[in-house]
Amino acid sequence: MRGAEPQRRPGKDIMTEGCIFCRIVAGEAPAYVVYEDGTALAFMDIRPLEEGHTLVIPKRHYAYLHEVPDEEVAQLFTAVKRVARAAMEAVGADGVTIVQNNGHAAGQEIFHVHVHVIPRYHGRKPLRPREASRVPGERLEAVAARIREALR
Ligand code: AMP
Ligand code: ZN
Repeated sequence: MRGAEPQRRPGKDIMTEGCIFCRIVAGEAPAYVVYEDGTALAFMDIRPLEEGHTLVIPKRHYAYLHEVPDEEVAQLFTAVKRVARAAMEAVGADGVTIVQNNGHAAGQEIFHVHVHVIPRYHGRKPLRPREASRVPGERLEAVAARIREALR
């Protein structure tokens, strides 16, 4: 019987390729960072489902939410709460969806815990992940600057 562990994509071990989010935390890979504290880091998703789509991650590497110690979950979601309010304000959204995928079956592509913060509007559906494409860095930086401002 399969246990309750979420599963990675068969045959592909993401960790042997290095974790892109750990590299962002270490400053070895670029990111449009909007928020940082001792536990959490928030930066723009490079393939946003809506303008202002932000990811909030624990700085320490965990593949799945259930691996994160309780105190870090509390700190992570305190950061999510702040970033969600700021992202909504920065883009003038009507609402915000918070999503956190665990396991390939749930749509998880990056096996370092991350919480999606997706601004929402009345009468409009965000893109689906497969419809999203990379947006120019200047646009990500412009919205990141507005979110940083809203976090003050
Ligand atoms: P998930 O499908 O929940 O694992 O989501 C992974 C998300 O990470 C997707 O929305 C990607 O667009 C996003 N992503 C992948 N690589 C990067 C990166 N280097 N910087 C920012 N976002 C990324
Ligand atoms: Zn990692």
